[in-house]
Amino acid sequence: MVGAGPGGYPAAIRCAQYGLHTLLVERSQLGGVCLNAGCIPSKSLLTSAQFAALISRAATLAPLPAAPRPSYAHALAERDRTVERLRHGLRTLLRENGVELGEGEATLIDPHRLQVASAGETAEIEFDHCIIATGSRPVRLTVSGADLPGVIDSDGALALSEAPARAVVIGGGAIGVEWAEIWQAFGSEVTVLEALPALVPAEDPEIGRELARSFARRGIITHTGARVTEIRPDPQGLAVQFTAGGTDTVAIADIALVAVGRRPNVEGLGLERAGVRVEGGAIATDGFMRTSAGHIFAVGDVNGRSLLAHSATHQGLIAADTIAGRRTDEFDHRLVPGAIFTHPEIASVGLQEAEAVRTGLPVCIGRFPFAANARAVTSGDATGFVKVVAHAETHELLGVHIIGPGAADLIATASLALRLRARLEDLATTIHVHPTWSEALMEAAWAALERPIHVPRRRPRPADRAPA
Ligand code: NAD
Repeated sequence: MVGAGPGGYPAAIRCAQYGLHTLLVERSQLGGVCLNAGCIPSKSLLTSAQFAALISRAATLAPLPAAPRPSYAHALAERDRTVERLRHGLRTLLRENGVELGEGEATLIDPHRLQVASAGETAEIEFDHCIIATGSRPVRLTVSGADLPGVIDSDGALALSEAPARAVVIGGGAIGVEWAEIWQAFGSEVTVLEALPALVPAEDPEIGRELARSFARRGIITHTGARVTEIRPDPQGLAVQFTAGGTDTVAIADIALVAVGRRPNVEGLGLERAGVRVEGGAIATDGFMRTSAGHIFAVGDVNGRSLLAHSATHQGLIAADTIAGRRTDEFDHRLVPGAIFTHPEIASVGLQEAEAVRTGLPVCIGRFPFAANARAVTSGDATGFVKVVAHAETHELLGVHIIGPGAADLIATASLALRLRARLEDLATTIHVHPTWSEALMEAAWAALERPIHVPRRRPRPADRAPA
């Protein structure tokens, strides 16, 4: 295994469980970007950020002294403790499973040999199978001024010792909106510039609009359809020039975070020497993660199929099963859920309404607002909705889109439902605990069947053909 992130380390554990002699080579920290510079540290900071909002909400339930100002230094300390604890746990897991660890930079020398270089020493390793899980790195902006001090990527954001007074976030995708949320909670003035017409444009457009409303309520400024043309030094910091709606505008900031996507780490691996083909900047793989050299596999961001930690893990396990000769299903992109940990939280799986319509399927839609969900109302957090997309004739679920409390956990039910090819009736007649957020999923299915209990029945739109 080359790379100990969420693609490589689970694959190593599974291979070792199958009795294969397994070496996991890592040039940096165990856990990869996810544990050290991505999912985990950002979720720790988001939790601290969201405590601030919880404290002010608590003041409506009980008389409290003035809400304390959240401390970024404390949030950073908590983040570092969390990452260290998980890193320690991972090291123990690998050891307990009998995975051998190799520290250093791995390069393929030929189809069956790797060289591992560390501190001037090199070692050669022969292998029957190899899994490449080298991840990705942030895409850089190509406009003038993109290399000025203060223009940072998500690694730079994690390295800041305090929240910037004014931040411009370039890119309103997952990373951009999560950092906007963190910094705003710690007192920053934040402006988000997104090139496409909606925030989080990979999500259903209704979700982007709901998040933009929530950001606006908290004073986060959002410009969509915004193209950054230049970044200049300015006496007050950085001047980020952009065009939006035909107008030239400048946003002044201390920090400009560039969060415009990530690109696979395929360089320096000696892929050509092993016959591993790269297409479009990513390692080409089949559904079982085999590369063009059949005994070498590529999992996670490096194959460019789905740049998400949980996809990497799933792909790593598929590769391990394939190597061990076990039966496994091909990777199915349609079943990959995604989540963004803003408040309100976002999660989705499967087809969006517009995608389903484009495929020519007869589509019916069900929506249920958290404002009509008892648990959401009692917890004082009732923004957002659940939207289900289903086949209007067979009622098979095609997609589920959630913005609201618990979205990232609720989506697991939807993923299972899609995987089992469940119908609206299956979701609607499953007994859900009352009062819970999960009832919103059940109610959205009832809404698609035009028999919702806790919202008035609506007149069907032509696109939402009435199911029988
Ligand atoms: P992304 O692809 O999610 O979003 C990048 C955004 O930047 C897009 O909306 C794009 O339209 C916009 N953009 C591109 N060029 C631009 C420009 N010049 N000016 C303004 N906007 C521009 O990428 P990301 O947010 O950098 O995240 C990288 C990867 O990491 C993604 O695949 C993402 O899914 C993953 N990730 C996931 C999570 C999560 O699941 N919670 C969190 C962080 C990152």
